[in-house]
Amino acid sequence: MTLAPSDKALVPFVSVDNMMKLVHHIGIEPMLAGLADYIEADFRRWSLFDKTPRIASHSEEGVIELMPTSDGEVYGFKYVNGHPKNTKAGLQTVTAFGLLANVGNGYPVLLSEMTVLTALRTAATSAMVAKHLAPKGADTMAMIGAGAQSEFQSLAMKALVGLKSVRLYDIDPAATEKAAHNLTGMGLEVVACQSPEAAMEGAQIITTCTADKQYATILTDNMVGNGVHINAIGGDCPGKTELAAGVLQRSTIFVEYPEQTRIEGEIQQLDPDHPVTEMWQVLSGEAPGRTSAEQITLFDSVGFAIEDFSALRYIRDHIGGTDYYMDLDLLADPDDPRDLFGMLQRAAP
Ligand code: NAD
Repeated sequence: MTLAPSDKALVPFVSVDNMMKLVHHIGIEPMLAGLADYIEADFRRWSLFDKTPRIASHSEEGVIELMPTSDGEVYGFKYVNGHPKNTKAGLQTVTAFGLLANVGNGYPVLLSEMTVLTALRTAATSAMVAKHLAPKGADTMAMIGAGAQSEFQSLAMKALVGLKSVRLYDIDPAATEKAAHNLTGMGLEVVACQSPEAAMEGAQIITTCTADKQYATILTDNMVGNGVHINAIGGDCPGKTELAAGVLQRSTIFVEYPEQTRIEGEIQQLDPDHPVTEMWQVLSGEAPGRTSAEQITLFDSVGFAIEDFSALRYIRDHIGGTDYYMDLDLLADPDDPRDLFGMLQRAAP
């Protein structure tokens, strides 16, 4: 992507309200498919990017993270938190905002809400990966954890993989009911289940998307049959996992960026040299994806900065010609670049 050097200091800002309008303007499923295309395109040019594990500040209650990357022309970062106890206080577990900047002059070119966008990009990434790894003809998904991400995950699998049926389970029946209600009339068969085992009946794709700051065991070894694709979303912090180690030992494991996933993902439970395949290698034909019908493929997703960069790039490319942004006076930009003080003085009341 090329971004013209900014000739004015106003920065386009996409608020939550405008993001929601943009999603409805484009349509949820077309937008999920479009985001997946942008993410896949950036995974295919992986070597161009500056990459680093995200910078995390942990507390007893949760984590606050910065996720930077650059392709040499454009720089991006996301600020994101993860606070599993927030929902009890009526707050989101995950909230985020992000920024793109022109590498040439360092000026920001987009500031955006990313709470809604993170749910969309996480779902688009999951479905893009499942499109390449799930068994042929997969049309049923067990969705374990029916929180904020769950409907997005279900709809992305419908849009990209051809999902027909989603089987929901949450430890809190009110969450299952909420997701079942939200997904009604969206073109999916929705089945609310009383146990994770019931949710997994007949499912070729198993998505785990729970939130708990501990080593949880959402899937035990004996729950997982051969041939499935596991999309493990919720384990994304040190000390916060969802799968029994036995499930990992039986799976072929695919990751975003191993340096980050070994700290945060399910594989923190394994030896540091346990073999994993980077998803960009599969997309560029350098490594095989699924090689047999019996194989268990596992996407150990933690969320990587390039996915946010792709999502911001998508937003930047789609707000032009719409009313779904406002120009922010975010940068001081005196006519004489060295006369910042003079500009301040002229503003005196
Ligand atoms: P949320 O708090 O809205 O939903 C989590 C749900 O999990 C809740 O409804 C809760 O009742 C349920 N749950 C907790 N323990 C459970 C269990 N043992 N069995 C079944 N359900 C259980 O959170 P969210 O925004 O949907 O996020 C879910 C998880 O995904 C979080 O851990 C978050 O950090 C992670 N996440 C990952 C990515 C990524 O890129 N991999 C992106 C966004 C969020």
